[in-house]
Amino acid sequence: MKPPVLLFVSEYDAPTEWREAIAAADPGIEFRAYPEMGDPGEIDAALVWAPPAQVMAACTNLKMVSILGAGADAAIGATWLPEGVPVCRIVDDGMQRMMVAYVVHAVLAIHRDASRTMKARRERRWDYVHPRDTAERRVGVMGLGNLGGAAAKAIAMLGFPVSGWSRSPKAIPGIACFSGMDSLATFLEGCDVLVVLLPLTPETRGILDAAALAHLPEGAFVVNAGRGALLDEAALEAEIRSGRIAGATLDVFQEEPLPEGHPFWDLEEVMITPHHASVPNPMTAAPQVAANVRRAVAGEPLLNVIDPSRGY
Ligand code: NDP
Repeated sequence: MKPPVLLFVSEYDAPTEWREAIAAADPGIEFRAYPEMGDPGEIDAALVWAPPAQVMAACTNLKMVSILGAGADAAIGATWLPEGVPVCRIVDDGMQRMMVAYVVHAVLAIHRDASRTMKARRERRWDYVHPRDTAERRVGVMGLGNLGGAAAKAIAMLGFPVSGWSRSPKAIPGIACFSGMDSLATFLEGCDVLVVLLPLTPETRGILDAAALAHLPEGAFVVNAGRGALLDEAALEAEIRSGRIAGATLDVFQEEPLPEGHPFWDLEEVMITPHHASVPNPMTAAPQVAANVRRAVAGEPLLNVIDPSRGY
């Protein structure tokens, strides 16, 4: 029997690391890295980020696509996704740790006013500001899934009062949990720092519009590591320019890379990071990809599969 064949296609991820990690997870899987794809008809599964449509269309026996990331928005409805092929995402401890580190870093930098300290240091000024207890700043996390749930717990461990918002009701010890659109305004009203870790779906696109941002308390901060299109960038800019929202740490944008003339570049209150909050770690993520290749070939249920009707 021929070994299952996995095709790797990404401009952003290292094929060598993934080749080694898949071999370590399951040496019986044949790994091919695009453009060396051999006979496309032999390919059973694909591990991809933004693949060319013609490459995917050539794989006429494709049984599963695994996205090289946690967010499936770039795959759902994409022209490159062959019809009827299920999409899986990465749910990975390594990726979770990396996101938790990003969020904790962002929240602490806001809480300890790191930009002010660094500015004073550059200007050789001793700029004493009395520090505040973490218990005095409320942090709210939108999205309590694999990444948001872990980030909320890590922030709570630092002593911040933490709330969270999700689609379905949750009970997480130490986190005040809200769910559904009816509770969104109340949730936002209690966020001195709002951390956004929602997936981008038809329901969440533009969810942080001017009306939603207006519910944040005076002097609040926004941290968005979910997707740029969750947020109305012009509305956030207006809130920051007016001084009502104190600042933002943004890893994701409606257009990436952030265009040269974008107003955020002129706002010192906006910390810009280049969509680098978290990526899958091949060594920790490869076992689930390898298992899904086997499952797809055997016609068994897949792990971490996206529900196209929910969009995540
Ligand atoms: P999950 O699917 O595990 O969690 C998603 C969470 O969002 C769930 O709690 C879900 O609610 C909630 N949610 C979804 N739709 C709604 C809605 N309409 N209203 C309220 N809550 C909603 O995703 P992950 O935690 O793994 O990842 C989250 C996102 O982070 C990804 O989709 C991706 O966009 C982004 N990301 C960004 C990275 C970066 O480098 N910046 C890296 C990796 C991911 P429920 O629990 O009820 O289902």
